Amino acid sequence: MTEKLYYLDNKLSEFDANVLSCECDGDRYSIILDKTAFFPCEGGQYADTGMLGGVRVLDVREKDGVITHITDGALEVGASVHGVLDFDDRFEKMQCHSGEHIVSGLIHKLYGLNNVGFHLGRDDVTLDFDGVLGADELAHIEALANRAVYENIPIICEFPGPDKLAELDYRSKLELTENVRIVTVGDIDMCACCAPHVSRTGEIGIIKLLDFIHYKGGIRVHMLCGARALRDYGERYRRNREISNLTSLKQTDVVSGVERLLDENGRLKGELVETKKSIVKRMIAGIEKSEKSIVIFEDTVGIDMMREYANTAAASTDGICAVFCKKSDTEYNFILASRDGARMSTGDALKLMKEKFGARGGGAGSMVSGTVSADGNALHAFVENI
Ligand SMILES: [Zn+2]
Repeated sequence: MTEKLYYLDNKLSEFDANVLSCECDGDRYSIILDKTAFFPCEGGQYADTGMLGGVRVLDVREKDGVITHITDGALEVGASVHGVLDFDDRFEKMQCHSGEHIVSGLIHKLYGLNNVGFHLGRDDVTLDFDGVLGADELAHIEALANRAVYENIPIICEFPGPDKLAELDYRSKLELTENVRIVTVGDIDMCACCAPHVSRTGEIGIIKLLDFIHYKGGIRVHMLCGARALRDYGERYRRNREISNLTSLKQTDVVSGVERLLDENGRLKGELVETKKSIVKRMIAGIEKSEKSIVIFEDTVGIDMMREYANTAAASTDGICAVFCKKSDTEYNFILASRDGARMSTGDALKLMKEKFGARGGGAGSMVSGTVSADGNALHAFVENI
């Protein structure tokens, strides 16, 4: 059994220990110490990381009371080594985990729902409950949870004996009978838990419930606590300020202001389509009967708006009608159209364009379309000679 220093002192960030074994597995090493302050991957949260005698602790596992440190380097068996935790990260985990107990305890107390899943990752903390709550209920829970933070209630972690344990009414995901660690937050919550916690609720700083979704017949709530919530607030504030600067809207007005901008954008898009349609209409009105093929380079209205033009123009010539719209500096989108009985079918014209200019495209019947990278004058001359 490894001596678990994190149960003696939840704030212990450095410690000395003896190396009992070190096994190599590829480029990783499994190291067992006589004692450790590194909390393993357990209780829904990822393992502590840090340094151990000059090598990096990447992961920590526990099996049958023995804790194994997965490191990127070897340590000498029998040596005394100094361990240093990434304590900022560990403290944030304690803030989140203690916050979870308060929220789960309150939800259990007020609404009778059970926490059936807890994930404490580096980027996301989620709590799953076996029943559905709405936004109003969660806002109420959030307010009560933060009141518990302001009250700075002691968080007691202890291993009660079997007799005392039998008398306690605590939340637990597992049916444990011995060595059960009970974490108590005033009269808000009592829960079996193996993880390190902050000493008083005030250390959590803030408990913020974010979004929630319906999940497996209940809900999944995303939550941030303490330093993570503060960073998130800073990031959200920065983004809001940026939107405010970009739109010249007051920070408090960005939602209604952006709604107005989107309405305006939709109206302008509609106007633009109508304007393009009227441009095409005028172009169509200007089409004259012609023996020669008709070729037009048009960059204003876009290729899709030019289909009707191409059809009408094709009906007015014995040749073909070709429309080119600039796609980039070197590439054109194009449409080829012809009427029945024209000198050349669109299929044959496309085949020639493929041979001569490496055009790509396809289609059937009187209209084909595609893209081509070629000089505009060469394309013009090519179509005119059809
Ligand atoms: Zn817990």
